[in-house]
Amino acid sequence: MMENKKDIRALTKEQLREFFINQGDKAFRGNQVYEWLWQKSAHYFSDMTNISKETRLMLEDNFVINHVEVDTMQRSSDGTVKNAVRLHDGLIVESVLIPTATRTTACVSSQVGCSLDCKFCATARLKRMRNLNPDEIYDQVVAIDKESRLYHNRPLSNIVFMGMGEPLMNYNNVLKAIDKITSSDGLAMSPKRIVVSTSGVPKMIKKMADDEVKFKLAVSLHSAIDEVRDSIMPFNKTFPLKDLREALEYWYAKTKNRITYEYVVWDGINDKRRDVDALVKFCKFAPSKVNLIEYNPIDDGEFQQAKSSAIDMYQEVLESNNITVTIRRSRGKDIDAACGQLANKNKV
Ligand code: SF4
Repeated sequence: MMENKKDIRALTKEQLREFFINQGDKAFRGNQVYEWLWQKSAHYFSDMTNISKETRLMLEDNFVINHVEVDTMQRSSDGTVKNAVRLHDGLIVESVLIPTATRTTACVSSQVGCSLDCKFCATARLKRMRNLNPDEIYDQVVAIDKESRLYHNRPLSNIVFMGMGEPLMNYNNVLKAIDKITSSDGLAMSPKRIVVSTSGVPKMIKKMADDEVKFKLAVSLHSAIDEVRDSIMPFNKTFPLKDLREALEYWYAKTKNRITYEYVVWDGINDKRRDVDALVKFCKFAPSKVNLIEYNPIDDGEFQQAKSSAIDMYQEVLESNNITVTIRRSRGKDIDAACGQLANKNKV
């Protein structure tokens, strides 16, 4: 029965080598199969043309190759590509290709739905169904890399974990996926081109520091005032700003890496001078960069992008306090590119 077979991509290269030795074959066969699975992205054992037919049938008797399929692909007039990706069990996640003049970035998902409850986020309306496996995260990146080559004539240059889910709530699998993405057996990308964006899980930020990870950290902050953050990101009541700040201080002391904050300014919510003053105070302990992100509204309109005068105020105050600011325009507005919108329409 299909369901009883193990996903062959859950095996490490060493485990595959051992499997073949136990079958009376050569360990080298494990290397060949591993290369088909990870470097050549084979979806079927029959694709493995340098493996004998008997061996391929034996593999089919023992394993399945779980892989993702791009279910729906939308291309925006601004070059953004958004995939609704169907997993082997039929669930859907989304990933996005964002091209600029100098880079092409993949924004990938780490969970189906999300266990957190940010009020401004379409994904929060999908309850968390499960964590993604490392290969499901890896496959999203491979699909986006192919689209980058096809539509923009260049390979993928950067990855951000800012799609569906909180990556630090699926830390082990995210780490395994990044290992594969950065390994010479996988895509051989530099970890410096990968950003893991968290809503702020203090214990896991400290763990990342202890694990001496080489990728970058970004924090979706959106407010440095507890009452405001409680109202838009209710999990802040469990992980208040003081704990987040302490974890970030720990991270900086260990890594000496600048901290990036993702920040949306909404009309009537966090657009006052006291909001930007609190932000300056919060992030001054370490070299910081604030990305002011334009909001891509979800349907009910409760959250609206702040007026440009508020964005100007943020920029002026942050820069006068020597904090680097970038203003990120929203991409793919014509293709439902807000996090979770596409999956909501595909009814995860
Ligand atoms: S913004 Fe991120 S962490 Fe918050 S609910 Fe959406 S997916 Fe989850």
